[in-house]
Amino acid sequence: MAHSSHSEADIALRVKAIESLLIEKGIVDPATLDTIIDAYESRIGPHNGARIVAKAWVDTEYKQRLLVDGTSAIAELGLTGFSSEHMVVVENTPQVHNLIVCTLCSCYPWGILGLPPTWYKSFAYRSRAVIEPRQVLKEFGLEIADDVEIRVWDSNADLRYLVLPERPEGTEGMSEESLAGLVTRNAMVGTAKVQPPESPSPLAA
Ligand code: FE
Repeated sequence: MAHSSHSEADIALRVKAIESLLIEKGIVDPATLDTIIDAYESRIGPHNGARIVAKAWVDTEYKQRLLVDGTSAIAELGLTGFSSEHMVVVENTPQVHNLIVCTLCSCYPWGILGLPPTWYKSFAYRSRAVIEPRQVLKEFGLEIADDVEIRVWDSNADLRYLVLPERPEGTEGMSEESLAGLVTRNAMVGTAKVQPPESPSPLAA
């Protein structure tokens, strides 16, 4: 309702007003602001996480380093900072499906996944992901078989998680770059699986 929530234009206007004031008072440097905005618009985002996953799929030794010490292995790709300082990477297998949540607030590895989606920050997801993960995943369109264990990882300010999804079948000949193109943000949070290329539907065998 208009009286109880701000429209996007209204929010944009407020942000602009605050920005102008901060610059005018000499509190922030416009060049610094541009750098930060550029970072969020183009440098950080799920394409970084996808690079990590694709490399782990094609390079077994890299994958081992990634699972043992996520922070260092991710830094090898030049990806540091923006809340990705202490990273733990958890691997999906035919026996285990991993799901990431922050029950307390919305801790998330911004540097490698970008800004968190609205559902990740919602109270419903934060509370239900722990209590009934199988049902929550079903609502994301992801049916996890009863004999597959679901592990839920609770992020916090010091420790963030990244799911290493399973490499889909039919991708044997693909380049690392093309593989990265298949990896979605939700697959790295655990609310989706990576689909094979040109998969007609998530239910395809
Ligand atoms: Fe949090």
